[in-house]
Amino acid sequence: MKPESQMCPFCGKNEEKKISSTLRFCKKCKIIFNTNHKSLSYDRDYFIKEYKEQYGKTYIEDYGNIYNLSLLRLERISQFIDLSYRLSLLDIGSATGFFLKAAKDKGVETLLGIEISSFAANYCRDNFNINVIEASFEDLDLHKRFDIITSWFFIEHCADPLNVLKRIYSMLNQGGVFAFSVPSFFGPMFYFDRVKWIVTHPSDHRIDLSPRSAKRILKSIGFRKVEVIKSGYHPERVLSKSSIFYKPFELFYKKFTDKTAFSDTIEIYAVK
Ligand SMILES: [Zn+2]
Repeated sequence: MKPESQMCPFCGKNEEKKISSTLRFCKKCKIIFNTNHKSLSYDRDYFIKEYKEQYGKTYIEDYGNIYNLSLLRLERISQFIDLSYRLSLLDIGSATGFFLKAAKDKGVETLLGIEISSFAANYCRDNFNINVIEASFEDLDLHKRFDIITSWFFIEHCADPLNVLKRIYSMLNQGGVFAFSVPSFFGPMFYFDRVKWIVTHPSDHRIDLSPRSAKRILKSIGFRKVEVIKSGYHPERVLSKSSIFYKPFELFYKKFTDKTAFSDTIEIYAVK
C-alpha cells in the first residue's frame, strides 16, 4: 500500500493523474494534491521579512489593504447571516488579527482567533484586545460552537483537510456560516501558464480545489448552501495588456469569471 501522502486526502484513493513529480490530480474528487507536502513554521519572519519580499511591504504595513478586504468579506458573510445579532466568530489562522478587528468594528460580539505564531497572536491581543489561542487548529481540542467560522488561506496548509472541514462543520451552530479562501486550479495560471504554476506551487500546500470540487466536498460534509466566488482577478494572465484584443477580451473575461469563479484563488461561503 502507498503511504498516506500518496493518497488523495479526500477519498483516500489513488486514482490519479500526474501533474508534476509531486502533484497529482484525483480523478474521483477532481482536486489536486501534493504528495510531498511539508509544514513550514510561520513566525515573526513570515509577517515581516517573507511577506515584504513578496509584496513590497510587511504584513503589518499592509494593514489598510487587509482591513478593507476583511470588510468586503464581512459584507459577503452578512448576505448569509445577520451581523446585527449577537454573534460569535472564530477565525482559524487569524494571523495578526486584522480580520478579527474588522469583525469587531462590524459589531460581531464574541471573537476568538487561533494562531500558531506567537508573534502574530500577541500582536492581536496587544493591539486589538481580542482573545487568541496560540496553537495549531489540527492539534487543538476546542469544544465550542460558533455562528461564523472563517479561515483565510488556511485549509490548503492542512495535512488532513477533510478532517479539518468536518471539525469546522461540527463547531458551527445550525444556520452558521463557514467562509474561507483557498487556491484554485480552475484559474488562469493553471490553464495558461502551467509550468509557472508547477514551479511556484508552495511546498506547504497540500491541496488545490476548484469551485466545483469545493462545492461537492462541502455538500457531502453536510453544508446546505455553498457559494463560490473569484478572489483574484487577473485577465492579464491570459492575454497581455499590450494586445489590441485586450479590451474586448477583458469585457468577456469579467463576465466569464463572475459566472464561473475562474480565478487562481477563490472564496467560499457555506451555510450549515
Ligand atoms: Zn480523491
